[in-house]
Amino acid sequence: MSFNPASQNIAIVIVAAGRGERSGFSKPKQYLPLMGTAVLTRAIEAFQSALPNAIIQTVIADGDILLFQEAVGNRPGLQDAVTGGANRQASVLQGLKALQPHNPDIVLIHDAARPLVSSDLIERVLSHVESGVGVVPGLPVADTLRKCNDSFLGETVSRDGLQAMQTPQAFPFAGILAAHLSAIENAYDNLTDDAEVFRKSGGKVLCVIGDRLNLKLTYPEDFKYAERIMGQEFETRTGQGFDVHAFTDGDEIILCGVPIPHSRSLKGHSDADVGLHALTDAVLGALADGDIGQHFPPSDPKWKGVSSDIFIKEALARLKARRGRLLHVDLTLICEQPKIGPHRQDLRTSIASLCGLEIDRVSVKATTSERLGFTGRGEGIAALATATISLPAAP
Ligand code: MG
Repeated sequence: MSFNPASQNIAIVIVAAGRGERSGFSKPKQYLPLMGTAVLTRAIEAFQSALPNAIIQTVIADGDILLFQEAVGNRPGLQDAVTGGANRQASVLQGLKALQPHNPDIVLIHDAARPLVSSDLIERVLSHVESGVGVVPGLPVADTLRKCNDSFLGETVSRDGLQAMQTPQAFPFAGILAAHLSAIENAYDNLTDDAEVFRKSGGKVLCVIGDRLNLKLTYPEDFKYAERIMGQEFETRTGQGFDVHAFTDGDEIILCGVPIPHSRSLKGHSDADVGLHALTDAVLGALADGDIGQHFPPSDPKWKGVSSDIFIKEALARLKARRGRLLHVDLTLICEQPKIGPHRQDLRTSIASLCGLEIDRVSVKATTSERLGFTGRGEGIAALATATISLPAAP
């Protein structure tokens, strides 16, 4: 019998229970950010994008639930995390047991510390699974291998036939679960990977070509290397936005979400937050995704009087949907009155909070127009914004 991945129920165990003793990091490496997103989250997202219908079971260390929730949160298709065991083998077994009620045909077992796993590799591994046959990705060893004792050189080890093992490793679900249970019965309790567990119970394991970019993050420099690889796949874009609102009778204006007492109000269909409107258009501009009027037509009564944080949040949701990230915003407000200076910090804090940015990535500037033009005559406020974003580069 051969498996056809397209017609099979596929499940994934992502093992994230390690403590990262080798790395010397402040917290377990699977929860550290890699280009702004936790390593474990990136691993989960890689599988969700390659196999949108698969069930994903994460295994975490006892006591890491808060770290997990902070990094990953709740996602459709993701099972509640289960607690692992004393070592990797024991943790995988907990993940497999949790998948039993779903009775998948195939399971992929993956280390969270490999967040750069590609769809190509996942498909390559899956396409070779058969009844009684597991699949591992391996890479021929490139470096000369030599034993060192107390820093002194010992014997050279022949590279002939040696392969470095990666994950994901794919197996028929029932077969690998039985192999894990039998390993425990036979007191094989610290095997380093699932291929070894499967082999010990008589299963065959096919080695397919791995992926050199599927790095295992172990040491701090591995993070730098991974970010360098990922950086090449991102591009930086800027967008601009401009908006004007006229003054009308009133005693308060809303700027960047902050109410500011004033002898006038701003006139508009929504709350007339000229700063947030310019910022929203700047983000949409960087995405080349229309403008605020197109997404929120003033003719639609739905937007009457609404708070403008809705607009910037929608633009940021569009940015997130394209896996982009806001890096920096720069806003210039042009008016004679009110004086912006005394409110500048409040405006920056409000924008930083709305946009999920650090305060030093938010600039608010103000100028008059030297009493020239409509802003100079005190008829309204103009705002000019620039947004800089990072976006995955088109393939
Ligand atoms: Mg406007």
